[in-house]
Amino acid sequence: MSHVLQRSSASLPVAVGGDGCYLVDATGKRYLDASGGAAVSCLGHGHPRIVAAIQAQVASLAYAHTGFFTNEPMERLADLLIADAPAGLDKVYFVSGGSEASEAALKLARQYFVEIGEPQRRHFIARRQSYHGNTLGALAVGGNEWRRRQFAPLLIETHHIAPCYAYRDRRDDESEEAYGRRVADELEAKILELGPETVIGFIAEPVVGATAGALTAVPGYFKRIREICDRYGVLLILDEVMCGMGRTGTLHASEQEGVAPDIMMIAKGLGGGYQPIGAMLASAKVIAAIEAGSGAFQHGHTYLGHATACAAALAVQQTIREERLLDAVRARGQDLAQALDERFGNHAHIGDIRGRGLFMGLELVEDRATKRPFDPALKLHARIKAEAMARGLMCYPMGGTIDGRQGDHVLLAPPYIITPEEIGELADKLGAAVDAAFAGLPS
Ligand code: PLP
Repeated sequence: MSHVLQRSSASLPVAVGGDGCYLVDATGKRYLDASGGAAVSCLGHGHPRIVAAIQAQVASLAYAHTGFFTNEPMERLADLLIADAPAGLDKVYFVSGGSEASEAALKLARQYFVEIGEPQRRHFIARRQSYHGNTLGALAVGGNEWRRRQFAPLLIETHHIAPCYAYRDRRDDESEEAYGRRVADELEAKILELGPETVIGFIAEPVVGATAGALTAVPGYFKRIREICDRYGVLLILDEVMCGMGRTGTLHASEQEGVAPDIMMIAKGLGGGYQPIGAMLASAKVIAAIEAGSGAFQHGHTYLGHATACAAALAVQQTIREERLLDAVRARGQDLAQALDERFGNHAHIGDIRGRGLFMGLELVEDRATKRPFDPALKLHARIKAEAMARGLMCYPMGGTIDGRQGDHVLLAPPYIITPEEIGELADKLGAAVDAAFAGLPS
C-alpha cells in the first residue's frame, strides 16, 4: 500500500527516467510527453545543460536563506527576466511555483493600495473558467466552481465575469471585435457596480490553460481590458504561469495582445520542471509606492530565491534564447495545428481546435451543431487519458463539468524541442486514443 496522499499514486506507473520528449516507466515503457506534464517540461527531460547547471550549483551553494544573503543565480535570473519583461515591469519576486506566485501577486496588489492611502480597495475581479492556483487565496480568485465548491467561504472577496470564449459565446451576427468589446465591457460594468474606489485588480490568464483548453481571446479584448483598468486605477494582473515563458511562441503570451500588466505571474516553463520555481514580476509604479510607504513588500517564504532552483531556471532561460527555441515553438506550433486539423478537423465530436504556438486544445462535444457537451458522468476526459497512457502518450484532458457548460477538452503542451516526426506520432496516438475512448462509451 502506498503511503503517498497524492491522488491515485498507487495505481499509476512509476516514472524512473526521461530523455528528450519521452518519459520512461519502471517497466521500460516510453511515453511521449505531449503535455509537458502540466505545460511544464518546455525543454523535455534530461537536458544535459540543465543537469550540469544544477550539479554545479549544488556543489558550490545549494541554498542560502534570502533573509541573510542574496545569491548569484537569483540576481542573474532577475536581470535576464527584467531585460525581456513587458514594459514597466521592474522587479522579480521568486517563489516555488504558480500558486505561491498568485498569492504574492494578490498580497502585493493589496499592500499597494494600503500604501497609497486607499485601504478601502478590497475587491478582486476575475473570470469564470479560470485557474490561478490551489492555495486558498488563489482558489478564491480562480473561476472554477468545481474546485472552489468544497472550500467556501473563500478568503478573498472576488467577483467573476465572463471569459472571452468566442467559440461558445460570440453571436452569429457579431464581429469578433464587437464580441471582444461586449465581453470586456463586463469588467467596466462590474467595477461600476462594486464602486471603482473599492476595486484592487483584475486577474486573468492571457491564454486560458487547464480550465478551458488553450482558450485565446479575440483581438482587441485585452487592449480594452487594459483601458478599463487604467480608467479606474485598477491593477491588471496577468497570470502567465501556464501560457508564459515561450509556450505560445513569444516569451510572454501578453506580448501578442499588445498589453503590459502591472503585475505578472510566471512558473512552469520558467524552470521547465528541473526545479520547482515561480516568480511574480511587479511594475516600477507599484514597487515605488511601497518603497515610499512602509519600505518593503510584507511577504516571505523559506525557499524564496532558492539558489539551485534559480540556477536551473537561468540555464533553461539561456537555452531558450541561445537555441532560438521561440522560433521552434512557432514553427512546430504550425506543424501541430496542421496535424490536429488533418486528424480532427472533420471529426464528429471535436467542436473546436484552438490555441497558439505549442499550446493547443481540443474541445469535445456530443453535437457539433449545437455544441452540446457530453454528459460529464461519462468522464470522457478520463477515458481519453487512460487510452493515451496505454498507447504511450501523455496528454492533459479535463472534464466537461466545469461550470456545467463546457465540453471535455484535451490540452497539448509538448516540449519546445519536439520534432516534426514526434508531432506525427502525437497526432496518430491521440487519434487512436480518442477513437478508442468513443468506442468504449456506453451505447
Ligand atoms: N496559474 C495557472 C494559470 C496555472 O495553470 C496553474 C497551475 O496549473 C497555477 C496558477 C498554479 O500553479 P502551481 O500548480 O505551480 O501552484
